[in-house]
Amino acid sequence: MSNQNSCIICEKTEIETLYSKYPGYVKGTFYDIIKCYNCGAHFISTDSIDKSIYKVIYGRKNFSGYDRYYEYAKKLKSLENPLKYLAMNESIYYHVYNYINTLDSNAKILEVGCGYGYLTYSLQQLGYNVLGIDLAQPAINFAKKNFGDFYSCLEVSSLKNTDDNKFDLIISTEVIEHTLNPSEFVGKLFSLLGKNGKILLTTPNKEYFKTNSIWVSTKPPVHTMWLTRKSIEEMASKLDVAWNIQQNPFRYYPTYENQLVRYFRIREEPSFDHVVDEEGNQLAQKSVKSRRIFHYVKKQLFENPIIRNICNFVYNTFFPQDITLRIILWKKM
Ligand SMILES: [Zn+2]
Repeated sequence: MSNQNSCIICEKTEIETLYSKYPGYVKGTFYDIIKCYNCGAHFISTDSIDKSIYKVIYGRKNFSGYDRYYEYAKKLKSLENPLKYLAMNESIYYHVYNYINTLDSNAKILEVGCGYGYLTYSLQQLGYNVLGIDLAQPAINFAKKNFGDFYSCLEVSSLKNTDDNKFDLIISTEVIEHTLNPSEFVGKLFSLLGKNGKILLTTPNKEYFKTNSIWVSTKPPVHTMWLTRKSIEEMASKLDVAWNIQQNPFRYYPTYENQLVRYFRIREEPSFDHVVDEEGNQLAQKSVKSRRIFHYVKKQLFENPIIRNICNFVYNTFFPQDITLRIILWKKM
C-alpha cells in the first residue's frame, strides 16, 4: 500500500489505492495505482523515475508505441508541409496545426519533449524560430542529424530562465503524463513564457476510456498519471493561471485514421504484462497474431476513404470525448 496521502495533481485527500502491484514497464517492477475521487485522475506514487528507460525507448527505433514517431520523423523531410501531414495523422498535431494560425510569423516556439524532433522541424519549416528539447540523447542525436541544429538534450528544469529563453509559445505534446510533479513542470514552463506567451499541452484524456479502467496508458513509470479535464482545471486554478481545455471531438477528418474503429478497439484494459525485460529488450506481446490480422482488415476495409469518412462523421457527430485533451494555458491578465 502506498504512503501517498493526497492527489499529486489536485492535492485533495480523497484518494485510494485502486490496484496494488500493477506490473510496470520493466520486468520485475510493480506500482500501486492510486485513484483520486475528486479529480478522477489515476497516478502512481514514486519519488523518482529511472530516466534511462527513454534511452532504451528512443535508442531502438522500432519500439512498440513509439515506432510511429520514428516513422513520422523519417517521412517528413520529403514533404512540403510536414505539419499538415502530422495533423492528418493524429489529433495531437491537428491541435498544433489549428493553433499556430493565431501566432505571429516570427514567433519563438519551444517544444518540450520533442523526441525525434519532427514537430519542431515541421514548425521550423513554416518559418518559426524554434528550439526542441528532450532528455533522451538518442532522440536528440537523431533530430540534429536529420533536421538541423535547433535541438538540445536537456530537461526543461535545466533550461535557464534568461531573456534569450523567453518564448511566445511552448508546446509539450504527451509529456505531462510522464512527469513526477505536474504543477512544478507547468510552473517551470510559465517561467519561460514571454509577454502574452501561451502554453499548449496535450495529454491522453482518461474520460475517453471505460469508466472502470485501471490503466489504459503506457505502463508506469513511463506514464506516471492519467488525467481528466477536471485534473487540469484543478491544477490550473491552483497555479492561478487561465486555461482553455478542449475535450470534445471537433470536425476532424484524419487521412490515416478511422476514429470510430479506434474508439471500439483501444478503450479496453490492456494485458497486465511488462513491456521490456531488465536489459531493455522488448518482451513479446501475446496478441501479435491477432494484431496482424486486425492490421490487414484495417488496411483493406476501415481505411478505405469512403468508409473512413463515414465512420469519422459518425464519431465527430455522436461521440462526446476525444482521446486527447488539448490544453491552452496563459497568465491571467
Ligand atoms: Zn485529484
